[in-house]
Amino acid sequence: MFASLAGRTVIVTGGSKGIGRGIALRFGRAGCKVAVVSRTLADAEKVVAEIAAAGGTAAAFVADVSDEAATKAMAKAVLERFGSIDILCANAGIFPAAKLGKMTLADFDHVIHTNLRSTFLSVDACLPALKASGHGRIVLTSSITGPITGYPGWSHYGASKAGQLGFMRTAAIELAPSNITVNAVGPGNIRTEGLDGLGPEYIAKMEASVPMKRLGTVEDIANAALFFASDEAAYVTGQMIVVDGGQILPESLGALEEMDAG
Ligand code: NAP
Repeated sequence: MFASLAGRTVIVTGGSKGIGRGIALRFGRAGCKVAVVSRTLADAEKVVAEIAAAGGTAAAFVADVSDEAATKAMAKAVLERFGSIDILCANAGIFPAAKLGKMTLADFDHVIHTNLRSTFLSVDACLPALKASGHGRIVLTSSITGPITGYPGWSHYGASKAGQLGFMRTAAIELAPSNITVNAVGPGNIRTEGLDGLGPEYIAKMEASVPMKRLGTVEDIANAALFFASDEAAYVTGQMIVVDGGQILPESLGALEEMDAG
């Protein structure tokens, strides 16, 4: 049904773990040349080995994507290695919690730099190559938290994720003449190493609050990213697909209880 993406180069920032790893593996199975980017080489290399074991093509690149020079060097190295950059999945992100009153400026800046400044820096570094590809695709990993919902401890995180969407809408207009689309996936609660760190109690509560009664998988997010990267999505730009098992839909706890009552 979908035209093949085989041979296209995709950069996945934060590709060594969690959602990024899922995106990297999915694009690897689609025949793309996958650049797996993280600050930790050994973790990125593990994902590269997984892609290679499945018959795909991948290479690991180290970069802190909140750093301009490192991000530019990474894009240059990917271009040298694979000859093109067709798809950028700007996915790297962190979600440390700190409530207002306790949150420091350093906490705030760290989250904004890692999640939002990195979005600009990754796009900026890849832009010449994306334009040259003639069918560039930018896929951001945003969240439901910030653009749609809130969660105590995550005011900085929510601002960074909502900020990505503000960036996306204007970028989509500016880059349309270059045939580049800019879209976002909005994950709900996805089972990842990062989420595991929040503990079993948090995870159980989250599962109970989702109409589908499970957390999302990294494949759920990767499939949406793959759609945005496809030729068939060429006319879709500036949009976020929410992938959350219906998490944002119930208007109250009562709505979920009514659903559970059947
Ligand atoms: P994760 O499992 O903790 O993985 C984060 C990835 O980002 C790792 O590969 C990490 O590798 C990399 N990373 C972190 N800071 C980086 C930096 N400065 N430069 C380069 N790479 C960096 O996280 P995740 O849960 O998959 O989250 C991935 C994205 O999905 C984030 O943008 C997050 O906001 C979003 N999201 C997640 C969920 C969820 O439920 N998990 C929900 C909504 C949105 P290194 O530490 O080695 O650099």
